[in-house]
Amino acid sequence: MTPHDPPSELAELSRALSREVQRREWHGQRRAAAPVPPAVGPEGVQTAAPKEVQPEKRAQENPVPPSLEERRAQIQAQAAQITDLIQLQAAAEACTACVLCNSRQKTVAPRINGSAGVAFVVLAPAEEASSTPLGGAAGDLLDKIVTGGMKLKPAQTALISLVQCRPPQDRPPTADEVRLCSPWAQRQLELLQAKVLVPLGAPAANALLGKNQGLETLRGHIHRPEGPPVVPTYHPQDLLANPQLKAPCWKDIQLAMGELGLPTGG
Ligand code: SF4
Repeated sequence: MTPHDPPSELAELSRALSREVQRREWHGQRRAAAPVPPAVGPEGVQTAAPKEVQPEKRAQENPVPPSLEERRAQIQAQAAQITDLIQLQAAAEACTACVLCNSRQKTVAPRINGSAGVAFVVLAPAEEASSTPLGGAAGDLLDKIVTGGMKLKPAQTALISLVQCRPPQDRPPTADEVRLCSPWAQRQLELLQAKVLVPLGAPAANALLGKNQGLETLRGHIHRPEGPPVVPTYHPQDLLANPQLKAPCWKDIQLAMGELGLPTGG
């Protein structure tokens, strides 16, 4: 090709243009044929690309469960409308606010006479076999304290549980379970109008007083929170395991008797 040979230049330009068109077509086909990479899940596992779901539909399919505080507020509101202890117990027996309703075999009936003005309080029902909050040998020992020491009949005293359903496999209730369920017991105490509360054991005392202390710190004196005075003492199970604790327990019971105006015998 000479420096000024228009036909040759035109032919060369045409060939270059043709090569460029072919190159672009080839790359375009490659891009169109390339597969879409699958989405990667949270564990790095390749998953199918997700289908788009409308937010409203997603909310209907997966509703957010009510929080613990929301369920607690529902129990509080329901209990506040009930003014009869028997009806209150029936409402607690129908409660399904936590998983403990699945494992309970018996509902626990609190002893709700309480005419003497004292309410013993346990954290959770003690025995599956018993339908009361404190059965077996521990229940018998509490009855002995009431009859032999306080000179009252057990039926004159109230005995309630802060958690209404017995947790499975002898485990203690969790702090969340106690918080969620305690409005039932709080309403029982309101309707009982007890003059003095005697929590049995540190967990019940701490739950009632909103504290986190050992029983040796809590017992031996009268607490005066808002509401009736509270006199913590040992759980009867502790007295059965360690009879030496009966003497300091009796001192606590005498404190409670003083609040009730009962003669303490010195
Ligand atoms: S433990 Fe209390 S909150 Fe839970 S289901 Fe039983 S009554 Fe309801």
